[in-house]
Amino acid sequence: MSDNQPVKYLDEEESSSSPCQRCKVENAILITRKEKFCQNCFIRFIRGKQRKQMQDDKYKVKYGPFIERHGQQKVLLALSGGESSVVLLDVMASLLQEQFEAHNGKQGFELIILNLDEFDLNHLNKKVGEILPLLIKRYSPANIQYKVLALNSYILDDSILDKIVLNDDFTGLSSTIIGSDKSYTLFDILELCPNKSSVEDLLTIIYNELILRTAYLEKCQTIIYGHSMTRIANEIIALTVKGRGSIIYEAISDHSKTYKDQQFQILFPLRDVLYAEIISYCKLTNMDEFILQSTIPKSKINKNLTIRDLTTRYFSQLDATGYASTASTVVKTGEKLGAPKSDSTSLVTHCQVCGVEIYQDPGNWLRNITVNKAAPIETEEEKEYLESYKASIGEPEIIDDRYKSVHICYGCIVTLGGVNSVSGFVWPLKDKNTDHFESQPYLVDSEVEKQKILDEFILTNDEDEDDDNE
Ligand SMILES: [Zn+2]
Ligand SMILES: [Zn+2]
Repeated sequence: MSDNQPVKYLDEEESSSSPCQRCKVENAILITRKEKFCQNCFIRFIRGKQRKQMQDDKYKVKYGPFIERHGQQKVLLALSGGESSVVLLDVMASLLQEQFEAHNGKQGFELIILNLDEFDLNHLNKKVGEILPLLIKRYSPANIQYKVLALNSYILDDSILDKIVLNDDFTGLSSTIIGSDKSYTLFDILELCPNKSSVEDLLTIIYNELILRTAYLEKCQTIIYGHSMTRIANEIIALTVKGRGSIIYEAISDHSKTYKDQQFQILFPLRDVLYAEIISYCKLTNMDEFILQSTIPKSKINKNLTIRDLTTRYFSQLDATGYASTASTVVKTGEKLGAPKSDSTSLVTHCQVCGVEIYQDPGNWLRNITVNKAAPIETEEEKEYLESYKASIGEPEIIDDRYKSVHICYGCIVTLGGVNSVSGFVWPLKDKNTDHFESQPYLVDSEVEKQKILDEFILTNDEDEDDDNE
C-alpha cells in the first residue's frame, strides 16, 4: 500500500515503537488524519463520528413521561450490503447493545434494517436473507429487526404504468398501457433503458421511493444511510454529470422529507468518515465476511461503465495519489448549495417520472440551445439509407389523443433520451392528474441568455489564429 493512502497501516516494527496517541497505552496499528491509533481507539473514533451526528435526545434511552409523550423513536437503516452500510449497522447496533446493557434492557430507539434485494440484479455473491440473521446475532441481546424487499415491489400493479415518449422538441407524452396484452416487471422496464447509466439513474429513484414507502409503513421517523464522505462527494459529482444538480442540496445533506402526510428525518451519520476508514473499520471488526459483492466483473472500457462507476474510480484514484482531501472539499462545496430559486409568481411543478421540483421548463432551454432535426435528404443514396433505417426500427407509434402531456425534468430527459421510439418507455407516473404544463409561467429564457450559452461553445476564429501563430 502506498504511503499516500488516507489510512496507513504500521508494520510490526513501527507499531512496537509507536504508542497510540489516544489511550497512550496500546501500540498504534494505523495512522489516519495524521494521528496514530490502536485498534480499540480507532473503532471508538469512528463510532464517535456517528454519535456526534445523532446527538439528539430522541436517540437516547428515555424514562417515564418523555416516552409517554413522544413514543419510542424508530430508525430505518438502508442497508445495501456494501462496506459503508454494514459498518453503519455495526455502529448503530453496538450503540443499542451498550444502551441495553447500561439501562437494564432498555434501548434508546428501535432499529429496522431494510435491504432492497439486489441478488438477481447484481448477481451478488451471497443472499442477504442468509447474512442478516448471522449479522444481527452478533449484537444479541439487542433487539434489531430486518426486512428484505423485492425490487419488483416497486410496481404495485400494472394499472399504474404508463407509456412515455419523448418528442423531438423535448416535450413528453404519456398514454396508459391498460388494454395492452403485455404485463411488465421491473426488469422489463429496465430493459427498455437506452444505457447502463439510465438504469442506474432510474434505480436510484426506485430505491428512494421504496425506502420512503417502507419507512412510512413501518412508522419510522428517521432514515439513515451509510454514505461515507467519499461517497457523498462522489454523489455530488455524479448528480452534476447526470443533469440532476438541482437535487444535490437534498441528496447529500441531513434534511427532513415529507412523504404522503409524514415527515422523515434523513441522516448520513458517517458523513465525516472517509471510505478508506470504513474499509479499515470493516477489517478490524471482522465484518468482511458479511459484505455483499457483485460477481459481475467491472468493464475495463469506459464506455461500458456507468456515471457512478466512473466517479467512484475517480475518487479512489485521488485516494491512492494522496488527494483524499478533495472529497472533503467537494462535500463542503456541495453543502453550500440550497434549493434552486423559482420565480415567485410561478407554481412549481413536479417531474412525473422522478418527483423532483421543476423550477424551469427544461424543454424550453434545450430547444433553444440545440439543433434536433436531421439535415434535409438531398441525394438518392441518402433516401435509400433513410428507407432502410426506417424499416429496421419499425413503425413509430402514432401519437393521437390517447396521449397526454407529461412533466419531465431535465435529469429525466437526459436519462430517457435515446429510448427506442417504437417500444417507448414504461413507468409508473407520479401524480397523474396535474394541471397543464404549458399554462405555467416560467422563468424567461431571454435571447440574451441563449446567446451567452452559445458563446461559451463557439470557438472564435481569433483563437484559432492565435494557435497558428505560436
Ligand atoms: Zn488507543
Ligand atoms: Zn425527473
